[in-house]
Amino acid sequence: MKTLVLNSGSSSIKYSLFDMGEQSVIVSGLIERIGEAESRHRFELHLADTEARCDEKNAIIGDHRQGLQNLFTLLSECGALKNAAELVCIGHRVVHGGEHFRQPVLIDADVIEQIRQMIPLAPLHNPANLLGIEQAIEQLPSVPQVAVFDTAFHQTLPPPAYHYAVPADWYRQYGVRRYGFHGTSHYYVAKRAAAHLGQDLRALNLITLHLGNGASMTAIANGQSIDTTMGMTPLEGLIMGTRCGDIDPALPFFLERSHAFSFSELENQFNKHSGLKGICGENDMRAIHRLAEQGNESARLALEMYAYRIKKYLGAYYAALGHVDALVFTGGIGENDTWLRQHCCDNLHALGIEVDRNKNQSGDAECFAINSDSAPVSILVVKTNEELEIALQSLACVQS
Ligand code: ADP
Repeated sequence: MKTLVLNSGSSSIKYSLFDMGEQSVIVSGLIERIGEAESRHRFELHLADTEARCDEKNAIIGDHRQGLQNLFTLLSECGALKNAAELVCIGHRVVHGGEHFRQPVLIDADVIEQIRQMIPLAPLHNPANLLGIEQAIEQLPSVPQVAVFDTAFHQTLPPPAYHYAVPADWYRQYGVRRYGFHGTSHYYVAKRAAAHLGQDLRALNLITLHLGNGASMTAIANGQSIDTTMGMTPLEGLIMGTRCGDIDPALPFFLERSHAFSFSELENQFNKHSGLKGICGENDMRAIHRLAEQGNESARLALEMYAYRIKKYLGAYYAALGHVDALVFTGGIGENDTWLRQHCCDNLHALGIEVDRNKNQSGDAECFAINSDSAPVSILVVKTNEELEIALQSLACVQS
């Protein structure tokens, strides 16, 4: 039983083909720079009875149609997929499902239209997601296709958490509210954490921290998202690689009025040139640590600011939840950065949060604990796997 997961960006297609029996990847890869002269298709094969190998398929990939043709040719040539009938479904990552989509859905013409109507809420992502969906349907019309939304897990937010204190008409007329993102990852690591703790997720209060290039935290009460740091767009909340996160909302007015910035220039600056990059010129956390170790003051400041913003939200979400069973770190930074995990939990003993220095150094497992034995709040590090979660949800959707 095989499921293909597609994450289609504006100039890239990331994919994984899963054997759902084993829940293991057979082929994964990235087609990037679509439409450019340097377009390329890199992949990793994990075929039965042969050693895993990485390779690259040279081809000019002018658009998403050619990208998927290239992918399906590869899957058939390497024997990973003999024919379309072997695929139970294709699961598509869709960034914005608005208030309409609370769970995964089998894609039909109505669903495509709804995703299209959500474009103003996610102008960079939803059009690219749609390109992948439409091409996959055209090329494999007999295979059921499922949309899995980044926003869906956060549709349980209560009104006080999702409304902004702006004119109420904006919510009704324009859909202005907090939606939240990274939902698939927050849900996946919450499930893994519950399994690790040997408890039912519906009985757990968690704070999940997805810290990658994009970053967000979620407060989970009895297994449901009740607040999350990203908002109407993925710009709000934590400091990110290149995104500013929370700022004074009057900053754009000041910069526009007094320094002649246009709104589109500000949008670009807040999204692409702020965050860690804005503070110290680097957005890769490993490089920032190297710079800080060499005495670079702005790199040190970036690290301190990054950890401080997380710590503030830890306090806020602790208060929102009242009781916390576990913190769950994930994403490239959350899974690997021992300094960061230690620093954002420093001096939180009063909340029952205490990192064990030795346990924090160790661990390459999919899921491990780093809290001190006596601390009441578990602190877990869980490797996220959004692709697997999309595959599982898609399969459940077609089988329901
Ligand atoms: P994306 O959001 O694009 O999926 P990732 O989850 O892969 O990103 O996270 C990328 C971030 O993780 C980068 O800032 C990278 O420097 C950081 N990272 C990866 N490995 C480590 C490590 N060993 N220590 C600290 N940061 C790391």
